[in-house]
Amino acid sequence: MTSTRKTYPLDALVSPRFAQLGTFARLPYQRELQDIDVAFIGIPFDGGTTFRTGARMGPQAVRESSRLLRPYHLFLDVSPFDVFNVVDYGDVDVVPGSFQDTAEAISRTLRPLLARRIVPLVCGGDHSITLPVLRELARVHGPLNLIHFDSHFDFWDTYWGQKYTHGTWLRRCLEEGLLHRVAQAGIRGSQFSPDDLAYAAEHNIVVKTIKDFHDHGVFAALGSILETLPANEPLYVSWDIDVVDPAYAMATGTPEVGGLTSWQALECLRALVGKRLVGLDIVEVAPPYDAPGAPTSLLAANLFYEGISVLAKNYEQGMCVYLNLQE
Ligand code: MN
Ligand code: MN
Repeated sequence: MTSTRKTYPLDALVSPRFAQLGTFARLPYQRELQDIDVAFIGIPFDGGTTFRTGARMGPQAVRESSRLLRPYHLFLDVSPFDVFNVVDYGDVDVVPGSFQDTAEAISRTLRPLLARRIVPLVCGGDHSITLPVLRELARVHGPLNLIHFDSHFDFWDTYWGQKYTHGTWLRRCLEEGLLHRVAQAGIRGSQFSPDDLAYAAEHNIVVKTIKDFHDHGVFAALGSILETLPANEPLYVSWDIDVVDPAYAMATGTPEVGGLTSWQALECLRALVGKRLVGLDIVEVAPPYDAPGAPTSLLAANLFYEGISVLAKNYEQGMCVYLNLQE
């Protein structure tokens, strides 16, 4: 990664935070990829939802809620925008109503970024978009380790005979050989049957339900996942906002009560320092259901900031995302 900073959030003491166009963290909207290290990318597709739609409005709402992000991370002691050139790459031009065409658009958009070793921060959209994102990342890194934060398993085979939905992407990823070690965190809610758990056991998926988090705390629950993941293996984190309690993140398509607090959510991502994070998505933010003040989008914006800060902290500590490609 580069050491010359070419991109930086607008200076709030020159341009007030409520002014100017709403890019992520008030970073430059830029399609020029030279010297860029990290890119925020919106994928406003919600054709994979099985209950309430609305996640297509996610990326713009998260951008709007990111205006207050400041350049220094207090708890990780890092200034991520001093470490990386980060841009808002805009959105994938999705095809409403067609997962297949949208998946191709996602691949076309991500491929040049990944060829330049740019780390993608992907803002959904519903969870179906994670499959094409992982297809492209696996082309670069090989099979990835995955921590999947969600209140749902997302590994059902089909919905109404459809194989590509926000509830089936994980099974498709496993079938396509995109993943190595898989862990799920925050699972809860009523299930269809006990068989739902059987698939996890059959495929060696480590499951930490929300009970593990509430009974033992974030660091114990997540720590037992992290100790199964070697630090140097590429790790992707897919974060369904519905892993957070609807009291904090009500703006989502399939809410489940009893979830993480916003503070616990931040702690979960912060705990990834020292792991080779190669990409992060935050999906299922559906702004039409948000409360005044848009707390769900605000949380999602801050979770992205945690992700960028973890990447920056890792880099400061000598960890390169693209180990295999180092000369
Ligand atoms: Mn979910
Ligand atoms: Mn999900």
